[in-house]
Amino acid sequence: MSEKRAYLDWNATAPLRPEAREAMTAAFDVVGNPSSVHAEGRRAAAILRDARDAVAELVGAASDRVVFTSGGTEANATCVRPDLYDRIIVSAVEHDSVKAAASVDPAKLCVIPVDATGEIDLTALDRLLDETAAERVLVSVMLANNEVGTIQPISEAAELCHAHGAAIHCDAVQAVGKVPVSMAALGVDFLTLSAHKFGGPKGVGAIVCGPAAAVAPLVRGGGQEWRQRAGTENLIGIAGMGAAARAAAAGMDDWTRVAALRDRIEAFVGKLPGVGASAPVLIAPGCRLSNTAAVALPGLKADMMVMTLDLEGVAVSAGAACSSGKVKRSSVLEAMGAPAAIADATIRVSLGWETGDDDVDRFCTAFATLYRRWRQRLGADRLEVA
Ligand code: PLP
Repeated sequence: MSEKRAYLDWNATAPLRPEAREAMTAAFDVVGNPSSVHAEGRRAAAILRDARDAVAELVGAASDRVVFTSGGTEANATCVRPDLYDRIIVSAVEHDSVKAAASVDPAKLCVIPVDATGEIDLTALDRLLDETAAERVLVSVMLANNEVGTIQPISEAAELCHAHGAAIHCDAVQAVGKVPVSMAALGVDFLTLSAHKFGGPKGVGAIVCGPAAAVAPLVRGGGQEWRQRAGTENLIGIAGMGAAARAAAAGMDDWTRVAALRDRIEAFVGKLPGVGASAPVLIAPGCRLSNTAAVALPGLKADMMVMTLDLEGVAVSAGAACSSGKVKRSSVLEAMGAPAAIADATIRVSLGWETGDDDVDRFCTAFATLYRRWRQRLGADRLEVA
């Protein structure tokens, strides 16, 4: 008899929403190419248009500002372009897709430090902008961090950037669908989205441009997406993304319930003597995602913790999930000043709209098992763990 597993790795990817599945299933049977002028093409174009409207609405943008891509990674690589700028300034806690794109020309790269909560230092950003003599400057700061959930002061950063004549890109992959996002309120020039983080399919995303911004294509060829991203659109994926966007907008209230579940997890681990005071507890409520907890058992390697919890029926991840399967020390926690013993031993527990009390119960039971082993390994006294 197999017991239900607890999937607590929503920041890696979320389950497909039924609305997205339905829209994708319908799109499978649409034969036309959205660029074709005949009736079949127009039918496909209508699906594309409808999805574009839904994605635009989710972030308070006009539909013609949305450029579909193959996901968050491509969107980030298209925006963070050392070939187009003289200086690229990124935060120290960006996702690898931003870091890798920004590092193509290391001579152009500057890094904004973060504090112990993972929040960027706006004074340092101001100084970096003041100091640069470069004319074409791009700043890239994520909206919410994928490992610890810190929400950045993007509108303040955007004001600084624009006052200095710099453009600003924001990777909002982890925030969109979890917190209300408004292009106008953020004031950024480019926003990155990824469908699979809010219940759409994997392998589709978008760049949303500010009123005065346009994307320089990374992929060239046809005139799709207003010549900003060539290639026949992934119609099925985009249909799923549009439906997921509508469902995400309608389900914003779910996150209050999710926050209470996350708080239960933090309260449980918080009362276990010796569990690392991971950074999220330092972050002020309202300045972090409601679904993310980071927990450390110093002395145990995070990948070992992930494997043990997996065997106990609980899926979590070690810092940033690494596609190669290898786990490296979290650069996010390092940038936040966490000692190596904490950074190496931190797991990320992330919840979503389908998470229930039973998942949290399962996590707590599995974590208690892990905790007992950890105490034994340390040779500590036997502890009663509720
Ligand atoms: N940016 C952030 C903050 C992410 O968490 C991720 C995925 O984990 C990405 C970008 C990459 O998005 P995608 O998986 O759609 O390429």
